[in-house]
Amino acid sequence: MNKMGSMLSMLLLAGGLSAGAADELRGGLVLQFDDGWHSWLTEVAPLVQEHGGVATGFVNNKYIDGGRISIDELLRLQEDYGWEIGSHTANHYNAPRYVQTKSVDDWLANELDPSLKVLRDGGLEVNAMVFPFNALTPEVAEAAMTRVGSYRRIDSLALAKGVRPDGSLPGTSIDTTQYAPMKLIKKWIDMAHKRDLNLFLYGHRILPDSAFTEGTVLAVSSNTVTLDQPVRLDAAEDNVLIPNMAKRQNMQNTFSVSSAEGNRITVSGLLPGAVEVGASALVGPSYGTRLSDFNEMLAYAAERLHFYTVNDIQTLRHKEDVALEISNRSE
Ligand SMILES: [Zn+2]
Repeated sequence: MNKMGSMLSMLLLAGGLSAGAADELRGGLVLQFDDGWHSWLTEVAPLVQEHGGVATGFVNNKYIDGGRISIDELLRLQEDYGWEIGSHTANHYNAPRYVQTKSVDDWLANELDPSLKVLRDGGLEVNAMVFPFNALTPEVAEAAMTRVGSYRRIDSLALAKGVRPDGSLPGTSIDTTQYAPMKLIKKWIDMAHKRDLNLFLYGHRILPDSAFTEGTVLAVSSNTVTLDQPVRLDAAEDNVLIPNMAKRQNMQNTFSVSSAEGNRITVSGLLPGAVEVGASALVGPSYGTRLSDFNEMLAYAAERLHFYTVNDIQTLRHKEDVALEISNRSE
């Protein structure tokens, strides 16, 4: 073992990593949450930490002003849980629409800069941003890149080594609104592990299984679906129907649910044949992830991937882990 090798081994030991663990983990999971919720601190961060993980929270300042999360809570996420906090702009406006009526400079001055200032003045180390609704133009993205190290540009298969030439990182939703089936998420995790790539997933909140109804479809008409059990709907949420849970292969075919009465829900834009009678369907809030699904994903990922924050990727900190693994193998 050369001097460098022994130093790296000491670093490995100091970090509490056994050589075996470092060999098994390859590739990364970059978990992200948008908007800003108190439950990030009370529920999500402790859960992610149980699996040795970290995440990045992109907060929009309106949610701080509205009391959904505080600067103090964001600081605790950063200090106690190793989370990174990024900006999701001041007012959560759609940026392409904003710059159509105003200008890119106005957007910087009124939407990005004030958000960054409040967060940074509060003691948060903000190095990345995410556009509201992931909506952007090349011009506004370029402007954002004068302030931060990356932004998100959504991709249905969100694997990347690092920040792409246009400054973007990919991202795929784990919200119910698109409901990526667990089989598919596990396939992505395996791909990231096999190819030593980073997988970028984002959601909003983790919700208890009791917020959802999973039942068997008894009947379908032009705009109603009847399940074998009563459907609980939170009227304050946007709700969604995910048909054919067992056969679900991709992120297509989710339908907006407008109301529920007993076992029957009213669904908009129902496509003929999309909801099969006799198959199981899930009904619940669209901007959330079901707790049992999230737990299953975390457990599967924790055995295969490192967890990284967005800034870890921006600063290519993951390269150091790769260097450690290579050095360890060569000893
Ligand atoms: Zn948002």
